[in-house]
Amino acid sequence: MAYQALYRVYRSQRFQDIVGQWAITQTLRNAIATHKTSHAYLFTGPRGTGKTSAAKIFAKAINCPHQKDGEPCNECEICRSITEGRLNDVIEIDAASNNGVDEIRELRDKVKYAPTQAQYKVYIIDEVHMLSTGAFNALLKTLEEPPKSVIFILATTEPHKIPATIISRTQRFDFKKIATPEIVAHEKEILNELQIPFDEEALFVIAKAAEGGMRDALSILDQGISFGDGEVTLEAALQVTGSLSQEKLAAYLTAVLNHQVEASLEILEDILQEGKEPQRFIENVMFYLRDLLMYQQAPQLLTAQTTQVSPEFIALAQKVQPDTVYASLKVLSATQQDLRFTNQGRIYLEVTTVKLAAVATAPSITAGAAVNPSKAIVEAAPTSDTPALQQLSQEVSRLQQQVSQLTEQLHNGASSDHSIRPPAVKRSGHSNQQKPQEIPRQRVFATLEKATRENLQGIRHHWEDLLQLLQASQRAMLRACEPVAASNEALVVVFDYEILSKRAAADTDLHQAIKAGVDRLLHFAPELVAIPREAWPNLRQSFLQERKLKNANGGSQQAVPEANEEGPLAQLTEETGEEDLVPEVAKDTFVETAENFFGKEFIEITND
Ligand SMILES: [Zn+2]
Repeated sequence: MAYQALYRVYRSQRFQDIVGQWAITQTLRNAIATHKTSHAYLFTGPRGTGKTSAAKIFAKAINCPHQKDGEPCNECEICRSITEGRLNDVIEIDAASNNGVDEIRELRDKVKYAPTQAQYKVYIIDEVHMLSTGAFNALLKTLEEPPKSVIFILATTEPHKIPATIISRTQRFDFKKIATPEIVAHEKEILNELQIPFDEEALFVIAKAAEGGMRDALSILDQGISFGDGEVTLEAALQVTGSLSQEKLAAYLTAVLNHQVEASLEILEDILQEGKEPQRFIENVMFYLRDLLMYQQAPQLLTAQTTQVSPEFIALAQKVQPDTVYASLKVLSATQQDLRFTNQGRIYLEVTTVKLAAVATAPSITAGAAVNPSKAIVEAAPTSDTPALQQLSQEVSRLQQQVSQLTEQLHNGASSDHSIRPPAVKRSGHSNQQKPQEIPRQRVFATLEKATRENLQGIRHHWEDLLQLLQASQRAMLRACEPVAASNEALVVVFDYEILSKRAAADTDLHQAIKAGVDRLLHFAPELVAIPREAWPNLRQSFLQERKLKNANGGSQQAVPEANEEGPLAQLTEETGEEDLVPEVAKDTFVETAENFFGKEFIEITND
């Protein structure tokens, strides 16, 4: 016998076989059993959730002479011919395959004829949102004066594209995504029946990858079976879904959270070498972080839902601060959005990795690994036992709730905010374990003294070429920076994150590589001067002031007129337009504390 895909073999033949849509199937069964059916239905919902299966079962049940409790017998001639798609009275139209004008016109012509074999003529129009306007109009006419003994079932994944005039003439059922445990249970049922051995974790991996669609789950399961040579192993499931093993994820996140940029980039490289999809990778990391949070708050919940609580996982859960997780999720969510519009997935993942490592170094309020945020913040607050302190603690609980809601939204991909800058910039007044970078003020000034616009433009122009000459990890580090001034001897580069600036400043290999690279491209070999971005406006400002002062005093230095197109002044003043120094507004201490704790992007101040 020729091989048949699982999802075909195991297509539901009765309402009670449809997984995860109990409320809908029960309502339809009742309607059929009590002869209270409508003449038009609209089935909406994500792909693979049972819409067309339900439509076909409906067509059978309403026509089956042996119908019982609203279920078809599946054995009589009528049932069998519908299952096999050869009953003339059940007409399936796929609106996606053409836009349907002809088919709908034909439908209009023929709809008035009574069914020939069955009691009801049933039109099933799949992906109905694809119909052209003309076809919709034709359909509407038919729905306005429905002939007796005709039932329409319209199915769609995109109900918002269907004219309201159509929707209002149908009875609507919204099919939901199928929950992971329900998919797993169904997978198990099938494998047991087929006597195929399986690894339970593999079934979870497949169910998660199917994102609530049973048809997809069964297709992946099919691939898993052939990949695993008649057995469904975790490895096979990971391979066919492009998911990452928990070990790899743990290794990646451990490196990231220990801000080992190099190591995390290497692991990333490894993962990408195996051909993982960037989208899938980001998704896996997000799920893993979500699980870490859940484990911290309610370990029992997590163990009930998934299976994987490895020692590495527990170690991470004990170590990671919730605010780091929230900030990381935000970064990942933005990357997820960006990935949709690019085929440069690798670059985005490299930058994201560097960003995540920076998030992990953002100041946390306590030195100890306090897992409970409100506890952490209270411990860090001044030790005066005042009502204000209690109020603060209450406020934090409230914020905590908001944050978890936000995280939920992030998971649903609701965020469209692209301007992510994790709170790497330290504010004064807060303890800071990491020593800040020492700003090489004199070197910057010396560079500016001799900087020319040609040099800078040359480097900006060849920046991408320069990056290509570097190693992957060096390249990734330089994705978060920008060249701002260049002389023949030195190149000033501003980094978005102080941690990276500090690392770049100390990285002699990087200095060598840049020298060699620029030399090759532009025939001069500047020394790298790395500074954090937030230091740049002040440096620029003081340099300009010093120069003006010198000129005004008629010093021995050659005068550089402000209008000199070639001089450093022109180059700098030209840039002052993009000045982004925001005056530090005095803030409510609480808000500031909260911002430091949760990350600014999570705090919304409302006056209520
Ligand atoms: Zn039957």
